Amino acid sequence: MALHQNLIAGEWVGSEAVANINPSNANEVVGHYASGNAADMEAAIAAAKAAFPEWSRSGILHRHTILKKTSDEIQARKDELGVLLAREEGKTLPEAIGETIRAAQIFDFFAGEALRLAGETVPSVRPGIGVEITRDPLGVIGIITPWNFPIAIPAWKIAPALCYGNTVVFKPAELVPGCAWAIVDILHRAGLPKGVLNLVMGKGSVVGQVMLDSPHLSGLTFTGSTGTGKRVALASIEHNRKFQLEMGGKNPFVVLDDAELTVAVEAAANSGFFSTGQRCTASSRIIVTEGIHDKFVAALTEKLKTLVVDDALRAGTHIGPVVDARQLKTDTDYIEIGKQEGAKLAFGGGMIERENPGFFLQPTLFTEATNDMRISREEIFGPVASVIRVKNYEEALATANDTNFGLSSGIATTSLKYATHFKRNAEAGMVMVNLPTAGVDFHVPFGGRKASSFGSREQGKYANEFFTTVKTAYTLA
Ligand code: ADP
Repeated sequence: MALHQNLIAGEWVGSEAVANINPSNANEVVGHYASGNAADMEAAIAAAKAAFPEWSRSGILHRHTILKKTSDEIQARKDELGVLLAREEGKTLPEAIGETIRAAQIFDFFAGEALRLAGETVPSVRPGIGVEITRDPLGVIGIITPWNFPIAIPAWKIAPALCYGNTVVFKPAELVPGCAWAIVDILHRAGLPKGVLNLVMGKGSVVGQVMLDSPHLSGLTFTGSTGTGKRVALASIEHNRKFQLEMGGKNPFVVLDDAELTVAVEAAANSGFFSTGQRCTASSRIIVTEGIHDKFVAALTEKLKTLVVDDALRAGTHIGPVVDARQLKTDTDYIEIGKQEGAKLAFGGGMIERENPGFFLQPTLFTEATNDMRISREEIFGPVASVIRVKNYEEALATANDTNFGLSSGIATTSLKYATHFKRNAEAGMVMVNLPTAGVDFHVPFGGRKASSFGSREQGKYANEFFTTVKTAYTLA
């Protein structure tokens, strides 16, 4: 099998190969990918630094054309890239194709943004002086991404970084080098000058750590765990560098007595279990008022019985495998913790055997959980959710907000009064009414509060806050 290499200073390099394993079938190798070392990362950073002066002054039409070409190729190859994504990460093929299309849309959006760069001209408070406010590119941007959205997250960081004139060093998660390599290959062939985008696949503790410790990065955008996010923050402060973090969630989904039952059940099932619960916007706390509680639990349990857990590529699969053995162990450990804490296992809880050896776990629902249990406070990142019974809306809102995290927050209700109150008072970056907590648009801001996020928002035009720096220029007329 051919080795997919790292891209450093416009050259494909690297020899140490790591096998990319399919979580639907642990015997299947998706491909071989280079694993870089510290020197590779140093070289990539140097190349990005050298490429910055020219790229930052390159014309907006040049940047537009490259981003647009990239979008078009991703869109044209959506089925093939979707299969690659489903094979390396384990989400179902329709979800994987959907994510691939989203990546194409993101590149298209930022291709457009490149043509819409603008500043402001304002009068000075001192007569005879003009003031211009513009946005400059930052410099070299380090991009560190997680495994759960192998094409969309790299897209929503790389596209704005390049659009606004920055150069990039990109380190994808170890488990999903395939999509990362594919989009870098597409961008490279679309005409990016050498060194503008560098790919270094490899271990976070090795190549990622070199990025954290480098004095040459002007910005570092990270999505991943809270623990690594904290390291990114501390290292970035040390180097006086701008940083942006997207980390965990423990997103609540509130179901009120007046909710439309089908809407509530569909949204809760989607939020908790689709994409194998491996979305930072997934909901693992379903907070239900007592009038609808039993009816809702019965209906959600019936729904879970209909969900097919199987190979990500198989037609009819609703839930693919857990991403790897380590995550599977985390999930099953939390299921044991939930039982020991006294929550009632209402559905699932066990592993499933399929034709091939994959990491298949039943969707798992706890009831009679309380908000102080570890399963209600810590992010599990698997198909495991708990129902917390509350008296009324006021208790539901208080419980929803009683968490260290604040990414997404959802409610199912037919009441305009409660929907409006919840939108205003949910302590989260994103609020969903009668919709799953996960599933967001590509053209509007994404991000959270509290321990979920740090820094300015990603995506949409808000992305320019991170990827540019403001300059105020005064001229004596
Ligand atoms: P997860 O537990 O979900 O894998 P991580 O935060 O460990 O979350 O991983 C997210 C990204 O951070 C991955 O690309 C990973 O390689 C990278 N990473 C992990 N440790 C470090 C580190 N010490 N320095 C830089 N990047 C790291």
